[in-house]
Amino acid sequence: MTLIDGKSTSLQIQDEIKSLVEVRTKRGQKKPHLAAIIVGDNPASRAYVGHKIKACERVGFESTLIELSESVREEQLLSEVEALNNNDSIDGFIVQLPLPDHIDDQKVLEAVRPEKDVDGFHPVNAGNLSLGLPGFQPATPAGIMELLKRYKIETSGKHAVIIGRSAIVGTPMTLLLSRNANPGNCTVTLCHSRTQNLEEITRSADILIAAIGKPHFVTKSMIKPGAVIIDVGINRIPDASRKSGNRLTGDVDFEGAAEVAGSITPVPGGVGPMTIAMLLRNTLQAADQRA
Ligand code: NDP
Repeated sequence: MTLIDGKSTSLQIQDEIKSLVEVRTKRGQKKPHLAAIIVGDNPASRAYVGHKIKACERVGFESTLIELSESVREEQLLSEVEALNNNDSIDGFIVQLPLPDHIDDQKVLEAVRPEKDVDGFHPVNAGNLSLGLPGFQPATPAGIMELLKRYKIETSGKHAVIIGRSAIVGTPMTLLLSRNANPGNCTVTLCHSRTQNLEEITRSADILIAAIGKPHFVTKSMIKPGAVIIDVGINRIPDASRKSGNRLTGDVDFEGAAEVAGSITPVPGGVGPMTIAMLLRNTLQAADQRA
């Protein structure tokens, strides 16, 4: 069984990005600059944004964090987005999700200029992805594609099963894996909460991707021996042995799955760090496109 190490792969990609930033600065170009807007005090969102800002420092990017209160009005948030759209020193920015209930997420995401939409969530970037045109790819599916590539996992002709159809993970993952490219050329089945005979389908997967948000949902009996298992889930579960009283775990029962899988990503240390690496890669791309 191969452990697909997203943490070390992410650090390797960050080193590559750092070298490219050094080349840019030697040429007299400015450092790429990523901004992030965070609304409210959701601890998980704060942790994610913190990791992103720290990664910017690591690769030599500038970063700006804009913190808004939970009670911020939608118009205020939209005017912050507009300010970043018009700020020439910012190459790309993200609005950390989820947003409070009184704010329309879609309206905010559509306000981000597609050229600065390094999360790849704007309909223009989503449309480009579905047509196979250049644009910003959402970081999590892009990170999974990068893991498949760097671990030389054969995808052509394979059956990939994705559980979860979100706009940020499952749906773009379907598009990327089914493309006529390498990695790609998979036959893809996209499953969701209305899927019937889920276990029967997952047992036929050569590549199984879980993006559900339910701890340990995928068990050993759902896995074909030798399959590649990619666990996107990030779930916090109680753990009395930890000082914090909880720990992070994925959507896959790692111990059971590892007994049958050919390769598997851990949580933490799998897809999560790759998401950050791909956000940095998108930001560098945004900076290069503006240069
Ligand atoms: P969502 O929470 O938006 O959606 C969950 C999906 O799972 C839905 O499509 C839902 O189906 C499906 N689902 C729920 N229950 C079942 C079931 N019993 N059987 C089959 N399908 C089911 O998904 P996200 O993609 O936003 O997040 C998924 C997980 O990935 C979360 O744990 C999240 O924290 C994590 N995540 C991790 C990232 C990383 O960087 N590692 C990045 C983004 C997310 P339906 O559509 O029918 O409701």
